Amino acid sequence: MERTLSILKPDVTRRNLTGAVNARIESADLRIIAQRRIQLTLEQAQKFYAIHKDRSFFGELCSYMISGPVVVQVLEGENSVERYRKLMGSTNPANADEGTIRRDFAESIEANSVHGSDSSENAVVEISFFFREIDITE
Ligand code: GDP
Repeated sequence: MERTLSILKPDVTRRNLTGAVNARIESADLRIIAQRRIQLTLEQAQKFYAIHKDRSFFGELCSYMISGPVVVQVLEGENSVERYRKLMGSTNPANADEGTIRRDFAESIEANSVHGSDSSENAVVEISFFFREIDITE
């Protein structure tokens, strides 16, 4: 079993699609073992995305991520990091495969509905950014 950190981005909460995206997650046999709806501060967004701080879109990305509430969640399943990335689809929804969350829900390359950890190591770091072990129930 492996855990991954998922974020439902502000375009999802704004359009009232939390349940629709969660249905995709659960249908793919990933378990939502922790979940919280929060409003990120600019400082938190900048810290979470620090790895992207030198990219041209860093400022825009952080502004977008604080433009409304997000839902942070821990997903569990076999090979969950890779399987969730596949379910999410390509960063740019125009390139995302049919049936993926981004293909069906994303508004743009920026407002692309979901975040998922890109490695097991990063998942551990990203989960601990938002959750204490006592808040995660298998
Ligand atoms: P991911 O792993 O598929 O989420 O993609 P990245 O790690 O490359 O980028 C992180 C996030 O930054 C993406 O999910 C988008 O929300 C945003 N992003 C990526 N590329 C661009 C871009 O060219 N312009 C803007 N404005 N945002 C971008």
